[in-house]
Amino acid sequence: MKRYEPPAGWVVQAYKFALDPGDTQTGSLRRNTGAARFAYNHMLRRVGAVQAQRAAEASYGVSEADLTPWQGWSLPDLRRTWNEIKQWVAPWWAACSKEAFNTGLANLSAALGNWHASRTGARKGRRMGWPRPKRKQAQRSARFTTGAIRVDPGYRHVVLPRLGRIRTHESTRKLARRIRAGTAQILSATVSETAGRWFCSFQVAVRRDHNRPAHAPRAGRVVGVDAGVKHLAVLSTGELVPNPKPFNAALKKLGKAQRRAARRIGPYDPATRSKRTASKRWQRAQDAVTRLHATVAAVRADSWHRLTTRLAQQFDTVVVEHLHVAGMIRNRKLARSLADAAPATLRRHLGYKTGWYGSILYVADRWYPSSKTCSACKTAKPKLSLAERTFNCTTCGLSLDRDVNAARNLADLVRHVDLELPGDAKTGRGAYVRSVRPAPAGWAAGDEASRPSGVNAGRQRTAADREFTFTH
Ligand SMILES: [Zn+2]
Repeated sequence: MKRYEPPAGWVVQAYKFALDPGDTQTGSLRRNTGAARFAYNHMLRRVGAVQAQRAAEASYGVSEADLTPWQGWSLPDLRRTWNEIKQWVAPWWAACSKEAFNTGLANLSAALGNWHASRTGARKGRRMGWPRPKRKQAQRSARFTTGAIRVDPGYRHVVLPRLGRIRTHESTRKLARRIRAGTAQILSATVSETAGRWFCSFQVAVRRDHNRPAHAPRAGRVVGVDAGVKHLAVLSTGELVPNPKPFNAALKKLGKAQRRAARRIGPYDPATRSKRTASKRWQRAQDAVTRLHATVAAVRADSWHRLTTRLAQQFDTVVVEHLHVAGMIRNRKLARSLADAAPATLRRHLGYKTGWYGSILYVADRWYPSSKTCSACKTAKPKLSLAERTFNCTTCGLSLDRDVNAARNLADLVRHVDLELPGDAKTGRGAYVRSVRPAPAGWAAGDEASRPSGVNAGRQRTAADREFTFTH
């Protein structure tokens, strides 16, 4: 599949709506998303079986020409084979959209491509294993790219091929009005199920003009953002952005629900260290846990969107921390793992929203000790435990909330850099993202002393440092 390249001035964006399907429609959604899973699993087994068969034949000395024909995993290859065999392996195929099967085949093609690239060294990062079959419990989804895909003018329904007109749980007004005005065009629609609720996510090309809202303050404002545990975020302006109340409430309920599920008879028997049949009461408790997880995620996502939109609109320059590495996110405590994922969310949202609103995003250098440095005299402490909520400087006597101190340091990073930006960013016509390091003069030696640092070291690498640019 070719990647869609939007015309200049247009960006690709998602609009996701919760659905309220009827019983027949739910059946149809389950059937089509199940078809995607079936095609994925069937062709995965087939590709694996052909490879094993060929390896066995080769070991018996069968010549190359007489081996079982190779099964490729490019999408056209998979689709060709699937169309040849579907009437035998899935005689019910006509009851589902061909796009549903295509979803499974496209996902499989990508998974096998990743596996192969990882094995041959073309793909960096953690080693990818052979793709695992999709279980029935896995998230269901199917993507539609052709046919009747639209939002109803009445704002309360979406129309999808084969599935028909489905009621939405929330208004589709924002998207419908853009489509009517000619500033949005639907590219595809993906239906998916999360914790028992169905969603439809439209991939939409949207024309975005850099009209900063009237309430946006004057130019030249810089803000550092520290994503916290206790608060959603702390700004260098001293503002503490609290976690939303529904979030704290859901988190509390979640803890309760998890303890309840733990008391019931689950599928794992700790006494014999083996599997057992889970009780219905356990399943009920577990479903509640799943629903609460979805609530926590939704509430959290909403508050991140509100915050990042406000930051991109109200400030000219936003500075955030470097991402935590993937391995650090694996925490057992939910609150902690949410906090660890926060810098990544911040950066992802601000990456495109600063592009929309003509502001600039900076990402602090990976080694920059924003928490350990005093924001007043820039002396770095060798150690600062997570339990210390207040930063007390032994050099200048500063006493400040730990997160505010970190946020101030982030904002200062950019104040010390002579903002020499490419034309795009200067005129506010695009997001310019790059990592920044502290200026060498006046900065105490910390962790970064042994590394190449300084503004100039950073500036020489601008082209390489540029993470991505939106040009509109
Ligand atoms: Zn100090």
